Amino acid sequence: MHPNTSAQRMAETTSGQKPFAAILSCADSRVSPELVFDRGIGDIFVVRNAGNVVEPAAIDSLAYAVGHLHVSLVTVMGHGDCGAVRTAIAGGTENGFLSHILDIISPVVSRVRSLKPGLAGDSLVQAVVQANISNSIDGLLRESEVISRAVRQRDAMVLGAVYDTSNGRVAWLSR
Ligand SMILES: [Zn+2]
Repeated sequence: MHPNTSAQRMAETTSGQKPFAAILSCADSRVSPELVFDRGIGDIFVVRNAGNVVEPAAIDSLAYAVGHLHVSLVTVMGHGDCGAVRTAIAGGTENGFLSHILDIISPVVSRVRSLKPGLAGDSLVQAVVQANISNSIDGLLRESEVISRAVRQRDAMVLGAVYDTSNGRVAWLSR
C-alpha cells in the first residue's frame, strides 16, 4: 500500500522522527525493510550491512534507536540465499571483500557444522542464516547495556526474522 510516503508525511516528520521499530537487515538489494514491511517515511529505523552482522557501528545505531528514539521493537532480519552467508560457508573471502564480515559469520558456520554435521546445501545455508541472526541478537544484548536494560525492563523486544526472497514472506524466529 506504500503508506506514509507523501509530501504531507514529509512535512509532518520534519520536526523529528518517532519510528516505532528498528531493524538490522542485510544490505542485499532484494531485502529493503521499508518494502518488506510496507512502511514509509519516519516509520522504521534501519541499519544495514552485508550479512546483518553486529559490529560497533550497528550496535551504536540500534542503541540510539532504543535509548534515544524509544523504539519498542528491534528486529534482526536475515534472508534466504544470503551471499555473505554463502561465502562464509564456502570458506572464501570473495576476493578480499567482506573480510571483516566473514570474520564474524565464519565462527557461526563452524558452530552450526559441529552441532549439525549432516547439513549440506540449502539446509546448511538456512541453518547458518538462522544461527547468524541469533548470533547478532546475542551480540546486541551482550554489547549494548542500553538495549539489554530496555529488554529487561520490558520497554523493548528483540526478535529475529527470516525474509524469503522467493515469495516475500517473513518468518519470525522464536528465542
Ligand atoms: Zn544477505
